[in-house]
Amino acid sequence: MEHPLYIYNSLSRKREQFVPMHPPHAGLYVCGPTVYGDAHLGHARAAITFDLLYRYLSHIGYKVRYVRNITDVGHLVNDADAGEDKIAQKARLEQLEPMEVVQHFANRYHRNMEQLNVLSPSIEPHASGHIIEQIRLIRKIMDAGYAYESNGSVYFDLDKYARCHPYGTLSGRVKDDLYAQSRELEGQDEKHFPLDFALWKKALPEHIMRWPSPWSDGFPGWHLECTAMSIKYLGETFDIHGGGMDLQFPHHECEIAQSVAALGHPSVRYWMHNNMITVNGKKMGKSLNNSITLSEFFEGAHPLLERAYSPMAIRFFILQAHYRSTIDFSNEALQASEKGMQRLMEGMRTLDKLPTSKNSSIGIGDIGQKCYAAMNDDLNSPMAIAHLFDGLRIIHLVNDGRETLSAADLQQLKEVYRHFVRDILGMNDDSSSDRQTDLLNGLVNYLLEMRQQAKADKNFAVSDSIRNTMGRLGIEVKDKKDGFEWNIK
Ligand code: ZN
Repeated sequence: MEHPLYIYNSLSRKREQFVPMHPPHAGLYVCGPTVYGDAHLGHARAAITFDLLYRYLSHIGYKVRYVRNITDVGHLVNDADAGEDKIAQKARLEQLEPMEVVQHFANRYHRNMEQLNVLSPSIEPHASGHIIEQIRLIRKIMDAGYAYESNGSVYFDLDKYARCHPYGTLSGRVKDDLYAQSRELEGQDEKHFPLDFALWKKALPEHIMRWPSPWSDGFPGWHLECTAMSIKYLGETFDIHGGGMDLQFPHHECEIAQSVAALGHPSVRYWMHNNMITVNGKKMGKSLNNSITLSEFFEGAHPLLERAYSPMAIRFFILQAHYRSTIDFSNEALQASEKGMQRLMEGMRTLDKLPTSKNSSIGIGDIGQKCYAAMNDDLNSPMAIAHLFDGLRIIHLVNDGRETLSAADLQQLKEVYRHFVRDILGMNDDSSSDRQTDLLNGLVNYLLEMRQQAKADKNFAVSDSIRNTMGRLGIEVKDKKDGFEWNIK
């Protein structure tokens, strides 16, 4: 590859050069949402982080198979294999079929992602559509001797596993400490050891989400679905597995154990995790009433919000921090970020209208190379954004007529901004008319260049006709020493 990309592998805790197993193909699996409620800022961060990775890998030439699941079964109210299924609980409370809950919130999630300009994954598998694969995987783990049946449920034998394999490497948790903490939990009598986790749970009579299995009518464990689906779509060993840092333990730690138990080796080559978002310095949580949903952000409908914020302002705010740093949300921070975004987008619009000259009086420097270097350094989007801000100076100098750019230089500058701002950072102009604006700018510039040519050829009938038509359409044209400038009146 022309641009060697380095990413931080959470498992080795090192920056490593990304070398996919089967270039130019690259496999990416990201834990998707559990669809029993609206997506909040934390969901946006995970989605945008891996959207940035997906966009960048694609931009530098990889053919990425991006799998992001929908968790629609097995995520229990209490993450330690107890309590009701979150979706079933919502369905009971709202008197809905669980799949109605899933569809409703999946639709809302997709709408939010579209607003944030997050690209759709290549495959979006539902856990409930992969029960057969999950049962097959449980069998493999049982055959290898790392799972046991107990009262119709199947548990992963973590005690045995941890005696033969390293456990806790990803999250940095020490097994003995975990044991000490978990012994205090009660009501886990089906398990041989408190840290064992469910691969299959026998459904209680009132549990509505259930499937037949060799052990009982029941449902699969949450950790199992990601292992089953990632292996199904990306192979027994694949390139990158991503998710939020809060998923490292127990979810991803359990995924590693399941793969090693079933296959004899880990499936994931690079683990990547995005950091969390705090709100006014505090962790997000229902009890603090500071878990603001994306829709509330877009409508300004939450007591902690001074006003509404656009999806692009949220996106830019998230991209202005490195994905492994924490972000603290406050109205001031988001407003500052919004101002920066407006400045950048304004610069993009000015860039589209810049006149060209025979020669460049100013160099465009190596903004493009610097942006690539930043992105290759573990997706350093804040650094890339800083370089794009630096380049705005050139755009303004040329626009003010103090410097000039040749057609070739201008073309190159436009390409850098288009690649980084639009394709890689995924920023659009915050309006659905963005595409139309590009089209309009292109057409007006083309017509005005034709007009200049007509004038140079002394074909005044054509040049006047273009100018008059523009005037009728409300486009004001000003001739300048070195070209033209136009505005919509
Ligand atoms: Zn997962």
